[in-house]
Amino acid sequence: MALTMTVDGRPAAGAGTFDVVDPATGAVFATAPACPPELLDRAMAAATAAYPGWAHDDEARRGVLRAAARAVLGAVADLAALVTAEQGKPLAEATTEVRAAAAWLHYFAGIETGPQIVDGRRDTAIVTARPLGVVAAVTPWNYPLALAAWKIAPALRAGNTVVLKPSPHTPLATLALGELLRDLLPPGVLNVVTGPDPLGAWLCAHPVPRKITFTGSTATGRRVAAEAATRLRRVTLELGGNDAALVLDDADPARIADDLFWAAFANSGQMCMAVKRVYVARPVHDALVEALADRAATVPMGPGADPGVRLGPVTTRAQQEYVAGLVRAAVAGGATVAAGGRAADGPGHFHPPTVLSGVSDTDRVVTEEQFGPVLPVLAFDDVEEALTRADATPFGLTASVWSVDPDRAAAVAARLDVGQVSVNAHAAGVRPDLPFGGRKDSGPGVENGHWGLAGYTQPHVLVRPPSDDQP
Ligand code: NAD
Repeated sequence: MALTMTVDGRPAAGAGTFDVVDPATGAVFATAPACPPELLDRAMAAATAAYPGWAHDDEARRGVLRAAARAVLGAVADLAALVTAEQGKPLAEATTEVRAAAAWLHYFAGIETGPQIVDGRRDTAIVTARPLGVVAAVTPWNYPLALAAWKIAPALRAGNTVVLKPSPHTPLATLALGELLRDLLPPGVLNVVTGPDPLGAWLCAHPVPRKITFTGSTATGRRVAAEAATRLRRVTLELGGNDAALVLDDADPARIADDLFWAAFANSGQMCMAVKRVYVARPVHDALVEALADRAATVPMGPGADPGVRLGPVTTRAQQEYVAGLVRAAVAGGATVAAGGRAADGPGHFHPPTVLSGVSDTDRVVTEEQFGPVLPVLAFDDVEEALTRADATPFGLTASVWSVDPDRAAAVAARLDVGQVSVNAHAAGVRPDLPFGGRKDSGPGVENGHWGLAGYTQPHVLVRPPSDDQP
């Protein structure tokens, strides 16, 4: 049965359809409805009409979000199958993603939103976090459901209503989420619309939203920010990353290789916070390259729905070709392929996990965000130099430092110019209760925890004297 958009609590078919490709075969396997401008207007009108009632009842919002979390958990198998089919990741990872979406809904159902009282000498200030209104939410294709939940859970908890638009590469799981929550949420509170890329631009240019929350590339993020500026709306932009891992000279390559490998290659490297460059102290460089290459050479790659597969295809043909081009350019510049190297022939967008050594700092695979299964490993001679090279990027999302001595690693980690840095792990703080966001071109704003929730609210301050204080 064809999935439908959700507008004002009802199914909406849209005007025509667009194709959805299975990255494991490269063939169209489904279509999704295309939202025309008039339907987007209806979604915005429904969100506007639903806003006062939704904003008003804090307890109802908690209850509904808890029910939404339960509903998502109850539909894990169906939702995960859709994520794997359209995005490509192995079913086990898709299942983890769906569970994460439920965990985010559950966490925000429980978060406190009550007023803060600030007592002065003569009066009392009551600071209430008020919702903003209608939020436009735009998501990318790498984690369609988890990243949708990162947005809708805090936006709805704060009392906003939402119009959500997934990537045209991965619309299906988000449409299914809309259908699943349709009867749980009051009509108009969560609208889900799908369509080719112009729909994102229409959404962000629409006069109604008071806030745009966007996750995607830095290039698109700049367009979203420029559009938001014309109406002075709030924006949260979770953009690209080119995250460095620093491996110090006392690290044991055999012990850390597994964690480092998966920090770089999980979801075939299509993670904003994947390790995208490894800087390793020269004495342990060769052993680390070998240990990473061993894993790359043996990890099972195939269609995400097949049992035992640990790495799926790259989601889009364009991204697969981009990754292959970065590898070719690095090799032409003198890099050595320690594992992988060439996109697989045949159907599907497969590219083997590729480990490169002998890469120069100016190679594109180092300077650009590869967002795919290739990892450059670069040697360094002293920690100061490694810090400088790690920060020599327009991005500043996450990073990690690896050493047998966690104190030594933490001291180095504290100096990196990023939003989040982990010791002997990577992106260990990606949790609903900790802020996640980047510096520089990784975009303004944060998601998650109280910090993320605050981005969906405006403080309202009421200052009053005590009741018995007559003027
Ligand atoms: P993208 O920028 O191509 O698309 C993201 C979304 O924007 C899609 O829904 C797309 O349809 C929409 N869009 C396209 N043009 C638009 C416009 N003019 N206005 C508004 N929306 C528009 O990104 P992508 O290729 O889907 O995702 C990959 C990128 O996302 C990578 O750079 C990755 O690092 C980043 N990402 C960042 C985070 C984070 O939290 N920082 C998380 C995941 C992915």
